Amino acid sequence: MLTPAEADALIGQHLQCLPIESLPLAQCAGGVLRENIYAERDQPPFDRVDMDGIALDSRAVAAGCRSFRVQATQAAGEAPLTLAAPGACIDIMTGAVLPVGCDSVAPLEEITTPGVEAALGPAVRVEPGQYVRRRGSDTRQGALLVSAGTRLRAPEVAIAAAAGMARVRLSSQPMLAVISTGNELIEPGEPVLAHQVRRSNAYAIVSALREHGFQRVADDHLHDDAEELRERLRFHLETHDVLVLSGGVSMGKFDLVPRVLEELGVRAIFHKVAQRPGKPLWFGMAPSGAAVFGLPGNPVSTLVCLSRYVLPALYASLGQSPQPPERLALGAPVTINTPLTHFIPVRIEQDDWGRPWAQPAPTNGSGDFTALAGTDGFVELPPGPNTYRKGFVTRLFRWS
Ligand code: AMP
Ligand code: MG
Repeated sequence: MLTPAEADALIGQHLQCLPIESLPLAQCAGGVLRENIYAERDQPPFDRVDMDGIALDSRAVAAGCRSFRVQATQAAGEAPLTLAAPGACIDIMTGAVLPVGCDSVAPLEEITTPGVEAALGPAVRVEPGQYVRRRGSDTRQGALLVSAGTRLRAPEVAIAAAAGMARVRLSSQPMLAVISTGNELIEPGEPVLAHQVRRSNAYAIVSALREHGFQRVADDHLHDDAEELRERLRFHLETHDVLVLSGGVSMGKFDLVPRVLEELGVRAIFHKVAQRPGKPLWFGMAPSGAAVFGLPGNPVSTLVCLSRYVLPALYASLGQSPQPPERLALGAPVTINTPLTHFIPVRIEQDDWGRPWAQPAPTNGSGDFTALAGTDGFVELPPGPNTYRKGFVTRLFRWS
């Protein structure tokens, strides 16, 4: 059986990168950048005043001048004025260009008689360059500001806007099909009999995908019927980039999903990973290039496999640069009795010094999804038998 790392590698080898699309900047938050962003101009683009006050020539102050004739007012966005004489000053606003002939700004708070004549307070010093941010002191024109493969959040969107980009080249969003299987499953809102089960996985998967910014998500439910599976899966394979199935991949008589997928030409890349929960995980590739994840139906297994394999695979197919794994220390010892990698749900809690710990919140088996309420994700623990002590640092996967 494969280890989780071997499963990661196989998924990575087969995934295809999604095509590029150009989107208006206002629609690109959360997208993965597929071009570099370079500085359009020096930043700041001019010698920028960083304080409301008066702009003056510090040499006049050095020569003993304490009171200055206010020659004019210059707001942000106005072309720079020129200082008329060393004893003059210009009433200046934050964000304005430093006027020609000035080299410094005295803030309003330090001026005793603002008006026609501006006098510096008795102890006020004026150094050359004070409250002036020189052109190009942050970055130079042409500098690489954000690299392709970066996920755009608010700071990167601001940088793209400042670089003058009205549109940005991003990975197009994948078309995702979330497909639950099982005759026992009943939609929330419908009457449910004692021997039936609510169809919760599909809702969990769709909401996880939405939380992670995937919006093009279709949802379907199929019975454990070879004919129905064949017909609907053929359609979904033709119309989607990625299929996320839940249920029907174990060893039971009605676990028909792998067989039907293979009949439809989907090549099985692996079936089963040495892990708990989620051992029956199935992954394959369709001739169309669509990736197919067959997640085991037990609700904890489904969510763990989604976060552990499917979401990272989706980010990789968006072209996102690999992220360093997030790691955290166990807040209590955990004993593993089997030779399988274990995924243990955790709550992230801070101690009195503000340090975060992964507090294990074990479930009562892989069907016990009610125990997941309030957890933040899960940690990955290497195979046992072993006891991992408090403080053992290991990989953390967050639900969102
Ligand atoms: P399966 O992987 O189809 O053998 O299902 C394993 C267990 O998960 C069974 O107890 C199913 O009833 C349950 N299950 C499967 N799919 C879902 C679902 N969509 N929502 C809730 N439980 C499910
Ligand atoms: Mg089933």
